[in-house]
Amino acid sequence: MNFSYSDKVNELRKKLNAFMEEYIYPNEKVYVEQLNAQKSRWSAVPPIIEELKEKARKEGLWNLFLPDSEYGVGLTNLEYAPLCEIMGRSLIAPEVFNCSAPDTGNMEVLVRYGTEEQKRKWLLPLLNGEIRSCFSMTEPDVASSDATNIQASIVRDGDEYVIHGKKWWSSGAGDPRCKIAIVMGKTNPDAPKHEQQSMILVPLDTPGVKIERMLPVFGYDHAPHGHAEITYEHVRVPKENIIWEEGKGFAIAQGRLGPGRIHHCMRLIGTAERALELMCQRVQKREAFGKKLSQQGVIQDWIAQSRIEIEQARLLTLKAAYMMDTVGNKEAKTEIAMIKVVAPNVALKVIDRAIQAFGAAGVSDDFPLAAYWANARTLRLADGPDEVHKAQIAKLELRKY
Ligand SMILES: Cc1cc2nc3c(=O)[nH]c(=O)nc-3n(C[C@H](O)[C@H](O)[C@H](O)COP(=O)(O)OP(=O)(O)OC[C@H]3O[C@@H](n4cnc5c(N)ncnc54)[C@H](O)[C@@H]3O)c2cc1C
Repeated sequence: MNFSYSDKVNELRKKLNAFMEEYIYPNEKVYVEQLNAQKSRWSAVPPIIEELKEKARKEGLWNLFLPDSEYGVGLTNLEYAPLCEIMGRSLIAPEVFNCSAPDTGNMEVLVRYGTEEQKRKWLLPLLNGEIRSCFSMTEPDVASSDATNIQASIVRDGDEYVIHGKKWWSSGAGDPRCKIAIVMGKTNPDAPKHEQQSMILVPLDTPGVKIERMLPVFGYDHAPHGHAEITYEHVRVPKENIIWEEGKGFAIAQGRLGPGRIHHCMRLIGTAERALELMCQRVQKREAFGKKLSQQGVIQDWIAQSRIEIEQARLLTLKAAYMMDTVGNKEAKTEIAMIKVVAPNVALKVIDRAIQAFGAAGVSDDFPLAAYWANARTLRLADGPDEVHKAQIAKLELRKY
């Protein structure tokens, strides 16, 4: 395994870092101000985002996530990892480069399993950053970490499918540009367990689709993106909207969640790096009890421990990315599961130390640490809770004996 960055990656890292310095960090506050100045935080996307998207696209910093060379830049997962990490340093950055969840996962699904018509209708506008999308799998009424529990029904009726069910935590559905949902539901409750579920494309303006409410995360509304509870009440879509074919929901989920998961981990490492950087800057500036905070042994311990943990997490992320590139997402499942547990936990520890080192300022919104923490905490649940990944790692480990 060779994790050194190629010339191509170094060139992109340089460009991306320069873009972050010039356009992203200075505009984080502008984004919040524009959002708060709107009549409603949900009515529109702050204009700064579209302005920055335009610039990023012109500079070739666009769709870097997609390994497919026909539609994306054609980077491997290993090449994308250090770039995604840089994007993870700011909560507004991923969208600017058209590399944000859940669109990246949805685009991967359409690239791999979509028909030509589905690609024309939904993939191309997503790749162009003209629309956004959401993914509706989780349901309030069943333990959705076990996707075999999913109850929503997708029933064929002539040339149409009828979708009925209740979903929640459909991230991104609040965005006025969100036009399409990938919905998971049962097409055949009598089929073998892992062939009962299917995925289908549902335009959000179809009659019967209703956003009931937006769910906050530790009080953050994440507007205008948000996390929606949605009812799909006897929603009819053409039969051509089914993805791949009936019964392939699990197979698609495997394809979708692997890259989606590792992208979260890459971004979290960037988040942890920025938290450590902010902590180091802060403790060198402030004095208490006659010396700089940075001279306190305990704070030096937090800094050293954070550096050690970030390096460990980064190496495991790179290994998982390397495995995905060389033996495929399926074979890399243990590494993906391991890093999906490690990265959020490491990020949480580093951010928490930074918050402590900042004092009360750390929990305010003058600095990004509190928002980072809330975001990282959700990733111990979203895309599979820690315990489910650990159960899978243990199963694979025990199988050896
Ligand atoms: C901010 C955020 C965004 C999200 N975005 C989306 C989205 O866009 N689309 C979408 O469909 N979903 C989304 N989710 C939902 C997320 O994927 C689910 O919450 C997650 O899969 C867990 O399902 P659940 O909430 O039903 O928990 P449950 O299945 O009820 O599980 C509860 C707890 O039980 C424990 N548990 C479960 N299985 C085991 C086991 N095998 N061994 C030991 N303990 C176990 C775990 O501690 C787990 O946290 C999002 C969630 C959050 C918080």
